[in-house]
Amino acid sequence: MDIPTAPLGQSFAALPDRFYAPVAPTPVDAPAWIGFNSELAKILGLDNDFWRTDEGLAILAGNKVASGTQPVAMAYAGHQFGNWVPQLGDGRAHILGDVTAKNGQVYDLQLKGSGPTPFSRNGDGRAALGPVLREYVVSEAMHQLGVPTTRALAAISTGERVQRETGLPGAVLTRVGSSFVRVGTFQYFMARGLYDEIRQLADFVIERHYPELAEVDHKYTKLLEAIIERQAKLIAKWQLIGFIHGVMNTDNMAVSGETIDYGPCAFMDHYHPETVFSSIDEFGRYAYQNQPRIARWNLGVLAQCFLPILHENEDAAVQLAQDAINEFAPLYDTAFQQGLCAKIGLTFTKDNVAVAFEFLDLLKEHNLDFTNLFRALVALDSAEIEVNAQQFEGAGWRDWLGKWAAAHDNEDASLADRHEMMRTANPRFIPRNHLMERMIEEATNGDLSLFHQLNDIYKRPFDDQPEYESFTAPPTTEERVLRTFCG
Ligand code: AMP
Ligand code: MG
Ligand code: MG
Repeated sequence: MDIPTAPLGQSFAALPDRFYAPVAPTPVDAPAWIGFNSELAKILGLDNDFWRTDEGLAILAGNKVASGTQPVAMAYAGHQFGNWVPQLGDGRAHILGDVTAKNGQVYDLQLKGSGPTPFSRNGDGRAALGPVLREYVVSEAMHQLGVPTTRALAAISTGERVQRETGLPGAVLTRVGSSFVRVGTFQYFMARGLYDEIRQLADFVIERHYPELAEVDHKYTKLLEAIIERQAKLIAKWQLIGFIHGVMNTDNMAVSGETIDYGPCAFMDHYHPETVFSSIDEFGRYAYQNQPRIARWNLGVLAQCFLPILHENEDAAVQLAQDAINEFAPLYDTAFQQGLCAKIGLTFTKDNVAVAFEFLDLLKEHNLDFTNLFRALVALDSAEIEVNAQQFEGAGWRDWLGKWAAAHDNEDASLADRHEMMRTANPRFIPRNHLMERMIEEATNGDLSLFHQLNDIYKRPFDDQPEYESFTAPPTTEERVLRTFCG
């Protein structure tokens, strides 16, 4: 019988030496499975008979290097909270290699928490169990919520302790992304004047993420525009479900348009535009309402890195970059406003956008839950507003519900279609912060049942799942989490 091997491609590691440090993960004492995402494995064409064995466990724990592969830590730079850091890089992550999914898309497999690298600076290269489980659950939920994101293939406990404020159990996450190239990867080469590498990186990004641009004229201008468009749409999706990333540094923004790097991220419960959770975000730079303009700022940084490859004439290059950046705001506004109209079951028109914004104003004024109030609209139709509107008590609601009903009277789509539009735009279940905290606490004490249960629930975030009603509730005062940490 043939012994199955790990069929991992090496297309990132095939880039020139300057792009990474070749370095193997550091083995751990006692690797054990916490979670393995069989559904994702299937999509990726990963054979369970290989990966769900001790051999697979050893590779994903970093205890063994798959034959024929060279794990690498990616080099990148970045602006952290607006401050320039010329060298960051994967300080606790290793790209093992890539797989080609059934749909033809190539994905990198990356370990996180797999030991130090030449980019670790003072870090230990490790991850605590809590943040690993948080990333696992939240990134998978984001995917099911329809948001482009890296995904979680496996979580493995290490049998070792990591030292944070206290000693905590350690874990390694296997995450899967269509690549891990960031704005900061381009910055790394720009800062060193390595323009050939910028071009090579751009070509890699085109091949991986934007293959339709491979043969077009002015392909790097088109690439910049395409990245900006994907980011505008991504951030609109975040805003529409109340996701707060927490660390939108340029090294945490992927050029694939996927959400990456779930550190202190959190979902907003009651709607307030200035909401911020991250303990390290002292001044609210990455607060909910700031996310679009921060994204634009990060993309401006990317555009500067593109200058050497946009045009041989510097002024012309600047103009092209500026024009591309100017597209961000209209692209974002359209995506956000269109999504907001869908959340209240209406066609995207200027008048309906105004109705939707008034809804947000009322949420803010009455300190109401973002997710649940939008979802409550699904249960209403103009005939039922009178009997069914208990959640919408207080000044302003009667007026608003009247306007909303009038707007619905102007719609051509059937009521059933409008309900369906709202149902699929307004999740019933989101990974609420207090639930993540409870899950982490229980897992840290050895009980993984909530972790598994939440993974199940978030597979169908738009379904009612009445048996899990309690997981839709916003936190009580005692349950409310005010601060999240990177780990
Ligand atoms: P982040 O804030 O998670 O995006 O990380 C910023 C930088 O710090 C990246 O270069 C990470 O690889 C590095 N880093 C974060 N935590 C650790 C750790 N425990 N050990 C080594 N490097 C780390
Ligand atoms: Mg990062
Ligand atoms: Mg991180």
